[in-house]
Amino acid sequence: MALREIVLYGQPVLRRKAEAVVTIDDSVRELAKDMIETMFTADGIGLAAPQVGVSLAVCVVNNGLIEDEAEPNAYINPVIYEETGSCTIEEGCLSIPDLQEDVTRAEFVRIKYQDIDGVEQDEICAGMLARVLQHEIDHLNGVLFIDRISGIRRKLLEKRLKQIASQT
Ligand SMILES: [Zn+2]
Repeated sequence: MALREIVLYGQPVLRRKAEAVVTIDDSVRELAKDMIETMFTADGIGLAAPQVGVSLAVCVVNNGLIEDEAEPNAYINPVIYEETGSCTIEEGCLSIPDLQEDVTRAEFVRIKYQDIDGVEQDEICAGMLARVLQHEIDHLNGVLFIDRISGIRRKLLEKRLKQIASQT
């Protein structure tokens, strides 16, 4: 396993729609393992492949923090196909350091994905897992959490966002 560099706001890869994974081969498994290690090292609870500069539909979530047991999980080609409820929680992002904002998202989501062995999975997720998955799946579509806050709030953050973009 190896740590990968986290790409910051301003890099075009964060705005690209990630490509679907066609074959879950060793390189995809290695990517997922590296992403898990990178996520743990950065104290994150989720990470999407574009955040390490790879435009592929892969994300990882630290279920350990969420359910109080160490169980990082990789989601390949994840798609949300049902969502219900609504809740507002403060979010941050490893690609947008030192910035937190309230974001309203669905409370429950139903997702389809392939696991690291290529097995199709279909799960209903709630709570923090549903929240993190929505954030990570947004990344796979080139969407960032700051796109989901009000225009006024976004305006107030512009200076900070420019600072982050100028670091890259
Ligand atoms: Zn993020």
